[in-house]
Amino acid sequence: MTDLDRRTLIIAGTALGAGTLAAAEAARAAPAAPAALFEVAGATIPVLGSDKVFPVRRIYCVGRNYAAHAREMGSDPTREPPFFFQKPTDAIQNVTPGQVADHPYPPMTKNYHYELELVAALDKGGKDVPVEKALDLVFGYAIGLDMTRRDLQRMMGDQKKPWEIGKSFDHAAVIGPLHPAAQVGHLKEGLIQLTVNGEVKQKADLNMMMWSVAEQIANLSTFYELMPGDIIYSGTPENVGPVKPGDLMVGVIDKLGEIKVKVVQAGA
Ligand code: MN
Repeated sequence: MTDLDRRTLIIAGTALGAGTLAAAEAARAAPAAPAALFEVAGATIPVLGSDKVFPVRRIYCVGRNYAAHAREMGSDPTREPPFFFQKPTDAIQNVTPGQVADHPYPPMTKNYHYELELVAALDKGGKDVPVEKALDLVFGYAIGLDMTRRDLQRMMGDQKKPWEIGKSFDHAAVIGPLHPAAQVGHLKEGLIQLTVNGEVKQKADLNMMMWSVAEQIANLSTFYELMPGDIIYSGTPENVGPVKPGDLMVGVIDKLGEIKVKVVQAGA
């Protein structure tokens, strides 16, 4: 600290001592930040084994990331770089382990599909993140369902219009609790399986992703600056299919346990 700094501090201290009351009065009179008209709840995801929640900033989703699913959707898996879309954060539906979450069948669809996916949650951000550093951004992983109004997605796609109504709607981002990578490691392989009413519908290995979580982050970070709170649905394996009210979906990913979700008639 220089003499000048010291002198400035002493002067400031004296002024503060003499003017504390006046300063407090001024603070009271200062205009407060504009008040919000109403509160908007922010989406969060519980962190397993902790009293903390993970606040969600953005939901990114990877399309057609398992070769067999790309083929069933009518595209050539060998020629396609990863592509992304988003869901609104308020589409999050949390699923508590050990409980069955009621999931309302959405309006305006007659072909409502499950897509079981590994979700990576970031607690650090970055732009142009190299693949070898990408997993440093990942806080943890969860089991997710990228619920899809397939008929609307296809109809809009056929008309070369945005998919929005097929993918972005209330409760469309189903998710279990976050498992910190510090505890489960980074998930690069292992079973990913969905049963509906006890029947296996989707079954694959995480190592069958065309673009790994690290590659997804690296690629995504060339288009967007990633931030803490961003989560990425990493794409679904093959054999997507429809559910109807009454169906019970159980999603399993190695090291992440399971989530149970029952489709119910809206308003029931
Ligand atoms: Mn998906």
